[in-house]
Amino acid sequence: MWLPERAGRWSCSCAAPGSWGGYSGAFRATARVAPTIFRLLSYIRFMELQEKITILSGAARYDASCASSGCSNDTPYRGTGNTSQGGICHSWADDGRCISLLKILLSNDCRYDCAYCVNRSSNPVPRASFTAREVVDLTMEFYRRNYIEGLFLSSAVWDSPDRTMEEMVRVAEILRNEERFGGYIHLKVIPGSSADLIRRAGLAADRISVNIELPSNESLKRLAPQKSKESILTPMKLIGAEAGFSLVERTKSRKAPRFAPAGQSTQMIIGASPETDLQILQLSQSLYRKMNLKRVYYSAFVPVNDDNRLPVLAAPPLLREHRLYQADWLLRFYGFSAEEILSDDAPNLDESFDPKTAWALRHPEFFPVEINRADYATLLRVPGIGITSAKRIIAARRFAPVTHEGMKKIGVVMKRAKYFITCSGRPFEKIDQQPARLRQRLLLGDGSEQKQPQQLVLPGLFA
Ligand code: SF4
Repeated sequence: MWLPERAGRWSCSCAAPGSWGGYSGAFRATARVAPTIFRLLSYIRFMELQEKITILSGAARYDASCASSGCSNDTPYRGTGNTSQGGICHSWADDGRCISLLKILLSNDCRYDCAYCVNRSSNPVPRASFTAREVVDLTMEFYRRNYIEGLFLSSAVWDSPDRTMEEMVRVAEILRNEERFGGYIHLKVIPGSSADLIRRAGLAADRISVNIELPSNESLKRLAPQKSKESILTPMKLIGAEAGFSLVERTKSRKAPRFAPAGQSTQMIIGASPETDLQILQLSQSLYRKMNLKRVYYSAFVPVNDDNRLPVLAAPPLLREHRLYQADWLLRFYGFSAEEILSDDAPNLDESFDPKTAWALRHPEFFPVEINRADYATLLRVPGIGITSAKRIIAARRFAPVTHEGMKKIGVVMKRAKYFITCSGRPFEKIDQQPARLRQRLLLGDGSEQKQPQQLVLPGLFA
């Protein structure tokens, strides 16, 4: 028991009489060096954390599926952070990738050996792991300093899928329940995790996602033999069902818990396996229809390992990735099916044209479209007319016929649309409608079709 012995001093009641002076000297010496030891320990801990951040944020950069779209949270009572549908909590780089999340792995120490992955167990890369508390503290600190607007947390499988997932779920639960964090959280689900953990993840995070990685079961067996189609599709189905159930419950009571309100997404690696674009789009189509996915992300294969199971590429297929995103857009918002965009005879996207223009060139019988009579679905099929401009055309023609000049003001991209439309029976200009001639005109036009899309550079990988 500690007792006050002299004014301003404390000693231990069990100390031998007369020995107090010795303790006092030790105390004074300790008091002198304590701040230095504390600073040294803090510095060592800071350096360790710094190193972990470098390793684990670098290891997370290959995951493209981190956008935070479609979610709205208020700041909790006495809490920190919020996200809104209006886009306050997310932004994208030029190529559409989200850049405002703390995007990090909990661990890169993987037991699995996927051929395409930099973190696979056979790679001699530096390994590191965070504790759940470290990720929570980092997120809160970065959020308070306005560096980030949310957290994207994934992990290598350092232990069993359940053990790894449990730690990730703990991060989200501490953030929500202890730190009262209202910002955006996206958790990756480890394939093979139990249903209970997936439910907990969905209740704590805004978005959860399982990476499908490869477009066919054969490729999965060949390049990621420790994963299986079932271990990926089962959690996806569960997430879809739980999200639907939560929506139904919330129509009955606003207090019913929300399950992954920003939906689920997945990511597919493009170019590491031999599947065609048609197979990829058919898979995406089926995921959107059957599992209620919000987004499928396509990630151009970046060769980081020497492995004879992988193709040898001069560069990542970024243009193919870009065209797949455009085709995906047609699936989700323009009423196209995968089988309309591509066919068994032409199973890969034309890299020279966006998929809608390529479709238009293959279907001359559909054109020209008369702008003042066509319905909404038909307008959406015209290259250069998007969702907003199609709605504006329908609104504008209630008052007066739309002219070619008016189309420009509405926001139609006339350099593409002019070849496929008439306004009140008049074409934009006399144009040879032969597909080969049109193709040439579109290619040569003002040269813009020939621009290569710009993407993120992956530092250190390609000079
Ligand atoms: S499970 Fe496969 S893809 Fe995921 S980190 Fe491990 S090796 Fe990489």
